[in-house]
Amino acid sequence: MNLAALLRRAGQAYGDMPAVALGPRTVLDYAGLARRSAVLAGGLRDRLGLAPGARVALVMTNHPAYVEILYACWWAGLAAVPVNAKLHEKEVRYILESSGAETVFATPKLADALGRVAEGLPASSRVIDVDSADYEKLLTGEPAPMAEVAPDDLAWLFFTSGTTGRPKGAMLTHRVLQAMTLSYFADVDSIRPGEAILHAAPMSHGSGLYIAPHVAGAATQIIPESGGFEPEEIFDLLPGYPGTAMFAAPTMVKRLMEHPAAASADTRNLKTVVYGGGPMYVADLKRAIDTFGQVFVQIYGQGESPMTITCLPRWDHQNTAHPRYEARLASVGRPHAVVEVMIADEDDRPLPPGETGEVLVRGDSVMPGYWQAPEATAETLRGGWLHTGDVGALDADGYLTLMDRSKDVIISGGTNIYPREVEEVLLRHPGVAEVSVVGKPHPEWGEEVAAFVVARPDAAPAAEAQALDELCLGEIARFKRPRHWYFVDALPKNNYGKVLKTELRKRLQAEGEGAA
Ligand code: ATP
Ligand code: MG
Repeated sequence: MNLAALLRRAGQAYGDMPAVALGPRTVLDYAGLARRSAVLAGGLRDRLGLAPGARVALVMTNHPAYVEILYACWWAGLAAVPVNAKLHEKEVRYILESSGAETVFATPKLADALGRVAEGLPASSRVIDVDSADYEKLLTGEPAPMAEVAPDDLAWLFFTSGTTGRPKGAMLTHRVLQAMTLSYFADVDSIRPGEAILHAAPMSHGSGLYIAPHVAGAATQIIPESGGFEPEEIFDLLPGYPGTAMFAAPTMVKRLMEHPAAASADTRNLKTVVYGGGPMYVADLKRAIDTFGQVFVQIYGQGESPMTITCLPRWDHQNTAHPRYEARLASVGRPHAVVEVMIADEDDRPLPPGETGEVLVRGDSVMPGYWQAPEATAETLRGGWLHTGDVGALDADGYLTLMDRSKDVIISGGTNIYPREVEEVLLRHPGVAEVSVVGKPHPEWGEEVAAFVVARPDAAPAAEAQALDELCLGEIARFKRPRHWYFVDALPKNNYGKVLKTELRKRLQAEGEGAA
């Protein structure tokens, strides 16, 4: 089934319910959104001459037109290529070039930037500013009939965050996104018409994927006027929208709760905060629950199985009486309804509960492969399982605890050290705002543990190496303690707020070479 069929259905059943809002104002109802998407689908096909399977890029900050462009692509049997608007111009060009996008929809500033230089754009491509008359002209024809698609047809070419290297193009098909949508309803949240989702995170990523379940449920898609994540704007918008959900990376949750307005803001309408995409430390999660109440649901996913591997539902956040409450908060929950999860050793043999190995996934939400990268695809999907590159262990109840990415595991004297465990301990110190633990090359041990600490100004007691070391001595094995301390003003992060450990390791490498 075409993903756009869920929009047609919402348009028929809930035509007068608000579909898209810009800040506090509704700009389209569901009948209007379905009609505009169908008309734009005709424009893409007839006026721009795009044939089924062609790629259409969205180089846009969050914008009301995002939703209708995505659905118009699907309606016409085209594949959308959402690109994070904050990427460097060179990175954007890399994605446009490698996807072979024939048309690029861009918000005004980005359209200007792309329009100036043709380099990196495929010869046949054109850039359309979504605030221009050219865009509106595409919306003047008749609604197109919905294209027939096969379940394995490409719907969304999803570029991963680029935390460990160049972003990879995960091919998300109609089947994959239907499975994700189903799983959202089964595991993450219920959605009723008239509720809302606030898109404060980039729609090129997790927040954008969640458009699909919220269209299926006929909720309002709220686009902040700032086009992004501004805590004050979020607090201002919430009172106008009962039953609001939002996707937030852990860094966003942290920024929200630490914002001076958080204490006095009226967040009663905040129904659900879906967090994930990177580790949420238990100390932070507890403070977030204290600040905003029981609104949290965790997901663990990756572009290769979009947002859908495991889920820690609201219930596990609420169930404080459970003997394993803390362990559950530290976990990423249980496998989503549409997937199987296995922990495997280096030879892909299944490991029993309690043992640590690579997280493998299979099921309908798993991509059929990376875009134009047969070798990477074969490596990642070998044996019919998605190899996530994440290391974790399942417990007897099926809860998955992630230790780290395999690339981040520190091997010191032949023993594995999981940075996340050390980070969790350090974050318990009131003087620590942020921390990242990585391996520092060492001639004898292979690697030694190094900690980069962002201290909270004016905290008492202050975060100092000696105090932090004592904290570690009381909590974890001696060999896991950081031997090197770096107090820094900020950690290097990518545009999704994930810490770039590769940058920290490069810094340590350079230091080692300098000393030699
Ligand atoms: P790249 O693959 O380009 O290096 P990336 O892996 O960061 O970047 P994404 O697919 O956006 O790109 O992120 C998925 C990864 O994020 C997962 O493989 C995992 O390492 C991490 N992650 C996702 N959800 C969670 C979570 N709930 N807790 C801890 N880590 C998570
Ligand atoms: Mg990845």
